[in-house]
Amino acid sequence: MNSSELKQLIEGIPKAELHLHIEGSFEPELMFEIAKRNNIAMDYDSIESLKKAYKFNNLQEFLDIYYIGAQVLIHEQDFFDLTWAYLTKVHSQNVKHVEVFFDPQTHTDRGIAFEVVISGIYKALEKAKDELGITYKLIMSYLRHLSEEEAFKTLESSIPFKDWIHGVGLDSSEMGNPPSKFEKVFKASAAQGYKLVAHAGEEGPSEYIWEALDLLNIVRIDHGNRCLDDEKLVKRLVKEQIPLTLCPLSNLELQVITKMEDHPAAKMLDKGILATIHSDDPAYFGGYMNENFYKTAKGLNLSVNQIKQLAINAFVGSWLSNTEKDKHIANIQSYFSSFEN
Ligand SMILES: [Zn+2]
Repeated sequence: MNSSELKQLIEGIPKAELHLHIEGSFEPELMFEIAKRNNIAMDYDSIESLKKAYKFNNLQEFLDIYYIGAQVLIHEQDFFDLTWAYLTKVHSQNVKHVEVFFDPQTHTDRGIAFEVVISGIYKALEKAKDELGITYKLIMSYLRHLSEEEAFKTLESSIPFKDWIHGVGLDSSEMGNPPSKFEKVFKASAAQGYKLVAHAGEEGPSEYIWEALDLLNIVRIDHGNRCLDDEKLVKRLVKEQIPLTLCPLSNLELQVITKMEDHPAAKMLDKGILATIHSDDPAYFGGYMNENFYKTAKGLNLSVNQIKQLAINAFVGSWLSNTEKDKHIANIQSYFSSFEN
């Protein structure tokens, strides 16, 4: 299959996005537009100079610029526009289902009300469901560089809106902020009916993945690259079919890997891990779902079957009902059978 055939194959796959930070989909053009209408001076004088700053040596360097960008979001309309821009973009990439993270503390810590943030995001998700046919789940992430006490405050703020929120996650600076730091707040979140996920083993060691499983009781790992350091852990992930939401372009941009050929996705599939492909912070890492699939397939020389497996895994690992999962998986099977013939 040549490059343009591969691209075409990927574009047509019905896809599910399970690892996406809505603030990380903030494209510079929209950021400048919102900054202007909110009278906020940007540290960069043009879209080009901002884009030039998107060169990162590690997770922290990215987070520093990500938090600067998020500061221009003030009003409900801003959060709506951010989310709507993401949804229309992925609609053009044949994404059928999204499970989206938002980071309330990035906004509440600068005086924006929880309600403002979630209302804008929720209204855009509902509009996309009605008008674009994209189904969704919303995941509230705790910032792990902050304290557990602060996460508890966020949990409390979320309760009036809990019908809109399906799960909680754990993101931001991983090193030095192990899952164990948030054991109590995850327990309290589960008691509110939230499903649990956590970023683990992106930069941090495989021990953090064990902690996420055993102490936080998560149902899905975000990233989890480092599980391959630990055979016993791999066995457990395979046995329990814990989904790992991989983000290859993010890994490349944040120097978790130095070249796409080194990405662990294929190795994980070979071992029977429920690996999936997603975009993390697409505005910063150079690509949405199609680009992540394409560059991974190219870099690892994936077979058509492996690409199909990754697409199916994302629906298997989603929080859709079994009936909805079966419908999407049948569509993927029939899409690929037309390619195989
Ligand atoms: Zn992430």
